[in-house]
Order: sequence, then C-alpha cells, then structure tokens
Amino acid sequence: MSFPGKGLLKGLAVTMRTMTKRSVTAHYPDALPELPPRSRGVIALIEENCTVCMLCARECPAWCIYIDSHKDTIPATTEGGRDKSRNVLDRFAIDFSICMYCSICVEVCPFDALHWSPEFEYAELDIRELTHEKERLREWMWTVPAPAALDEGAEPAKEITTAQKAAERQGRPTP
Ligand code: SF4
Ligand code: SF4
Repeated sequence: MSFPGKGLLKGLAVTMRTMTKRSVTAHYPDALPELPPRSRGVIALIEENCTVCMLCARECPAWCIYIDSHKDTIPATTEGGRDKSRNVLDRFAIDFSICMYCSICVEVCPFDALHWSPEFEYAELDIRELTHEKERLREWMWTVPAPAALDEGAEPAKEITTAQKAAERQGRPTP
C-alpha cells in the first residue's frame, strides 16, 4: 500500500538502522588493515636464485620487468675440459607504476626467485621512484612471510627426504 511520505519513512528507517551499527571504516594509517599473509603488496627478489632465464619478463603482460645480464666464462676445472658459461644478472627492476599485480611473473619463475610480500606502503611523490631495482627488490624479501605449513598427512617436501637419505647414507644425524 502506498501513502504520501512512505519513501521518506523508509529512508529514515535505513538511517536509524545504520546509525546504531558499529562503523566498519578503518582510520588508516592509524589503524592498519589486517591483510592475509599472501596479499599481493610488492614483489621481492632472491637474486641468488635468478638464472636470467627471462621467463618472467617475457610473460609479464605489462612489460614492466627490466633485466640486463652478461655472460661470464668459467674456466674448465680439468685438463682438456671445456670452459663453461653462466649468466650474470646486471639489472633486475620492476616498474610498480605499471605493474598490475597479476602475479604471472611469480607463478612462472621456475627457480622461486620471485615472491609476494604483503607490504604495500611504498607510495612515492616521484613516479620514477616506483621502479624498484634489484637491491630494493632484495630488501623486500625480509617482509615475505614464511610459507604456510604443510597439510597434516601431506608428503614431506622432496628436499627434506633427499637430505634425510643423504644423511643416513653418510651416517650423520638426520635433519
Ligand atoms: S605482477 Fe604481473 S604485471 Fe606485475 S611485474 Fe609481475 S607479471 Fe608484470
Ligand atoms: S623467471 Fe625467475 S629465474 Fe627467470 S629471469 Fe625471472 S626471476 Fe629470474
């Protein structure tokens, strides 16, 4: 049934209901949000794990990963052996002003060199500062949370069983 002022009364009822509820607005930065540990805040790099395979840079849809490298020659260790070559990382940078936080680079890295940190407070006044070079990306690693514990009943990680077998063979205490 409709009567004059019904809409107004309905509106007032909504106002009264919400006025008595507790506010859900968090007063950032005084109150920091409780983010899940695997939040996509910033990408961290373990430089030592990076083999310069370029997969991440090729797959990045925003083309915001910049990698420079050169080849080093490692002399043969045996007489008549062949010299080896290895890639040396000169530059690894991510431009967070165009990154869309899709996580493709982290997913495709075959060597676990890239990880997400939930840290998100790195706004800059100068957009150029949003390109984080490898030294800064390495520093973010300190803010990456430890991986979640394995599910109960899950198989132990391959690295652990391999280390245990090696220790048993050598008569050392198992890790
Ligand atoms: S998260 Fe996505 S857009 Fe950002 S650097 Fe990685 S692949 Fe590129
Ligand atoms: S995919 Fe991983 S190993 Fe390959 S260049 Fe990127 S960070 Fe380095």
